[in-house]
Formats: sequence, C-alpha cells, structure tokens
Amino acid sequence: MKKLLHEASLERPLLGDGAMGTQLMIAGLEQGNCGEVWNLSHPDRVLAIQRRYVEAGSECLLTNTFGGSRIMLNRHSAADQVVEINKAGVAIAREAFGNNHGYVIGDIGPFGGLLEPFGDFTEAQVRSAFEEQAAALVEGGADAIIVETQTSLEELLIGIQAAQAAGAKCIIGSMAYDVTLDGSTFRTMMGVEPERAAEFMEEQGAHIVALNCGTRMDMQRALTAIKRYRSATSLPVMVQPNAGQPKLVNMKVVYDETPEQMVRGLAPMLEAGANIVGACCGSTPDHIRAFRQVMNEFLEVRGVALERSPA
Ligand SMILES: [Zn+2]
Repeated sequence: MKKLLHEASLERPLLGDGAMGTQLMIAGLEQGNCGEVWNLSHPDRVLAIQRRYVEAGSECLLTNTFGGSRIMLNRHSAADQVVEINKAGVAIAREAFGNNHGYVIGDIGPFGGLLEPFGDFTEAQVRSAFEEQAAALVEGGADAIIVETQTSLEELLIGIQAAQAAGAKCIIGSMAYDVTLDGSTFRTMMGVEPERAAEFMEEQGAHIVALNCGTRMDMQRALTAIKRYRSATSLPVMVQPNAGQPKLVNMKVVYDETPEQMVRGLAPMLEAGANIVGACCGSTPDHIRAFRQVMNEFLEVRGVALERSPA
C-alpha cells in the first residue's frame, strides 16, 4: 500500500504543482467564469494542464476544486453539480499521473465570504458546504485534503473538521499571509501569525502545516515562514508561494517572477526542512521543471534515491 502523504514527505521532500487558476485562463477560461465547472465541460483542458505538471516532475497535484464548495458554485449556478465536479477533479488529477506514482490532494478553498457576525454566512452553512465537498473528494479517491488560502482559524477549523468527518487520511491546513506595510513581518488578513496557525493545526489534528498564495510572500518570506512553522510544530511543512506579484499588462494579470528567479529561493527552503514545495498563482510548468532540477540536485548530494515507480 502507498505511504500516506505526510509520512512520505518526512522521508524526502516532495515536489508539488504550480498554479491552476492562471493556467485555466491561458487555456481560455474567462475572468469571472467558473474554472471548476471545466472538470465536467472541458476535462481534457484540465487534464492537459495537470499532465504538464507531472511531465515537469510534480509528485503531488491539487485537484481543480478550489472553488468547488456549494457556496462558491452557487455563484455560478452550479451548486447542483457539487459532487460530480469534485469527483471529476480527483479523477482528472489521477489520470494525469498515468503510470507514475503520485499524490492527489483534494483542494478546498475559502467559501468566499465572512462568517457571522462579520458576514452573512452561518457556521452551519459553511460546515455543511465543506462537509459535502470533502466527502465527494474522499469518495472520489483523493489521497489527502488541503484546506487552503485560509486567513481565519475559524474557517480553517471548519475545513479541517469537514475533512475529518469525511475520513481523509491526510489533512493539510494552508494559510495565506500578507506582508505588513512596513515589511517587517507577515500575518493573515485576519491577523493570524504562523506560529499560532501551526500550533492550532497540530492541536486540531491536521497532518501537514502549509502556506500558499498571500501578498508579497516571495520565496524569501516563505523561507522565514518555514522556520517559524518549524519553531512551533514538528509536523511536516508545505509551501506554495506565488510567482512574484501580480501586474496588470494589457488588461491581463501577469506574475513577475520567472522560473529562474523563483528557483533561486528553493535550495535554502529544502535546507530549512521544507517537506513539500510547490507554487501558487502565476507559476507554470516551467517553474516546476526548474524546481525539479534543483530538488534532484539536493537529493543527489544527499544520496537519496528518486523513485518514481508505477503507482
Ligand atoms: Zn495563489
């Protein structure tokens, strides 16, 4: 039987994938349209993106289900397809691995609003939406669940508990940090510091502590975050920074870090003990290919054999 993701990640670092959203745009998805519906309407295009990540060396793929909760899909009148969209997301990622061994991580993004008393959503609504999505991802055969781009511990907890209720064997909590205006530190929009997030995730039974996306969270800041996580928990750490900052060029959002620029920050992260490394918004298969090369060199120097045996 395949090792659980968090166990495998402690034996040697694993390579994640790059962005999905920005790749869907390149494949023709229009801004504001629902990328998750493509799991049913254009599965070939989603598969092609994930295959490119596997070819580049990804060992973990996040399903194309970031906005796949009922609350998010309802904004695109697709709430009646929650189960199908999430199950198809798992199946497409699995297919992308072909004969390669790899981990399919079922992706649950934020529900896209605020909880009462700050917003209009009750905890019960969000809980039921996350439980439904997590159940579909686990039933579809996901190896792990990631509750990602989180800014509040309240919403994170609902996601972790939904994954637990669904019977997920590996649960990843992933926070999005913003660098403060003076540049001295970073915390989430809701004021959560990395040490607190790591302690909280461990207390609540998550298996991997992660960060993704965020504002001005470049490779250097992500390295600092790894160290701060490490100081607060012994759980494996996963990082997926953005490819630099978004810029508007010809009315299109582009990210300004090339694979060459981004990959410079990778070796220090591996040395600091990152267990799973991927990238978020704006990154491409070329970024992941560059990561693969540096990671292979890192493993080679340490005499770690790379096995990409059939699943
Ligand atoms: Zn992102």
